[in-house]
Amino acid sequence: MNRELCYGSGECAFRLPSVFTTADDGFGAVVPGCEDTGDDPEVRDAAERCPSQAISL
Ligand code: SF4
Repeated sequence: MNRELCYGSGECAFRLPSVFTTADDGFGAVVPGCEDTGDDPEVRDAAERCPSQAISL
């Protein structure tokens, strides 16, 4: 998660709350323990749909 690109749209957490969440400061974050889920098609889809390409796999 690139916090310099993320602007806190919340789309990733809305789309896939099992993997993404919104941190206390409003930016997107990865749920602890889900750091190695980049091969999951749903995670890839959420990353591709991030409006600022802030999610790297
Ligand atoms: S979808 Fe992208 S811009 Fe929106 S909160 Fe998630 S990482 Fe940030």
